[in-house]
Amino acid sequence: MTLLAKPELVAPAGNIEKLKAALNFGADAVYLGGQEFGLRAMSDNFSPGDMAEGVKVAHGQGRRVYVTVNIFAHNRDIEMLPEYLSDLQQLQVDGLIISDPGVFLQAKEYAPSLPVTVSTQANVTNYMSAEFYRRQGASRIVLARELTLAEIAYIKEKVAVDVEVFVHGAMCLSYSGRCWLSQAMTGRDANQGLCAHPCRYRYVLQEEKRPGEYFSVDEDDRGSYVMNSKDLCMISFLKPLMEAGVDAFKIEGRMKSPYYVGAVVKVYREAIDTIAAGIAPRTEKWTGELERVATRPFTAGFAAGKPLDAQDVKRSTFPRQVLFCGVVMGRDNNTGRLLVQQRAPFGIGDRLEYLEPGKAIKTEVVKGLFNSEHEEIMIARHPQELVWLDSEYDLQEGSMLGKLVDNDR
Ligand code: SF4
Repeated sequence: MTLLAKPELVAPAGNIEKLKAALNFGADAVYLGGQEFGLRAMSDNFSPGDMAEGVKVAHGQGRRVYVTVNIFAHNRDIEMLPEYLSDLQQLQVDGLIISDPGVFLQAKEYAPSLPVTVSTQANVTNYMSAEFYRRQGASRIVLARELTLAEIAYIKEKVAVDVEVFVHGAMCLSYSGRCWLSQAMTGRDANQGLCAHPCRYRYVLQEEKRPGEYFSVDEDDRGSYVMNSKDLCMISFLKPLMEAGVDAFKIEGRMKSPYYVGAVVKVYREAIDTIAAGIAPRTEKWTGELERVATRPFTAGFAAGKPLDAQDVKRSTFPRQVLFCGVVMGRDNNTGRLLVQQRAPFGIGDRLEYLEPGKAIKTEVVKGLFNSEHEEIMIARHPQELVWLDSEYDLQEGSMLGKLVDNDR
């Protein structure tokens, strides 16, 4: 039996905590943005100091850090980029993710030792485009999301360049994010990293002489979200993508919680390792675990052809099933209690879910909770407070706690 090569698992890191969660749960690499020039201006993003720390943490574990410089640059940006690019080279990040040809040229001049990945924003949809970027010196191309499995495989076969594919996360209604809707409706330009997500808004019909009277444009009483794309989930296509030789799988979600990042990375880590070892994919189990933290219903995108059900017209997001509420910081050997840093209120009687790298998810009802002086408390109420938790499990440091929320989806 020929074993399949493992693609690099590339996870989002919206801040240092998410970076650590991604690495802890099995990402081979993370991608992140500085405070300028990346396409997620609304996420926390990394100061130069945070970025240096992130690089140190990742390299200490033999993992990689890619930095997004994927805005569509205007002249003012071009003038500020040389210093930023050479700073990134000094920081010894592992590569740049770029969509604009002008930024590409500058990267080659001011950060020549850094490999360039062509961003999905560049919309590479055919092998000649891939070949074009290869000849410019790109080492990897994140293909447009709008490609079928057969098209991805054909590009990989024809062009000697690394290929990366988005396998999980939010999708845009427009071509891989090239969209003017947000700029037009809110003045926030998606192509500068400022999208206000108006494709998720609830839309109604109004007759011009009757202001204030709104008519639903669909038969459902929850209204209509006609532009609201479902989230991408290609878990059932990982094996053929690996057989096609895809070099990297990317997860979207720099603005999602550390819990989301950890949970999704955990599933894809297990899936890649399982498939590479020649073991049959456990698609149903993996899909179930991904659905627990999902923000919308899933679609496999364009993998099998043009999707006919890619929009969720009934609502813009799922109510949350699991609320990220704490991180395990250690354990008291005398009492056996877990030291937990709070992220959202939780207390006695709540059912918690424990997310631990490489292990099955566990659940438990909170029976004993104590402040830092080991005095009993009913609820961990204060952001970031350290509390002791009675637990029958000896969870490793970095494990995450989610509070199960009762929701009728
Ligand atoms: S408005 Fe929606 S479709 Fe347009 S860029 Fe933003 S998220 Fe994508």
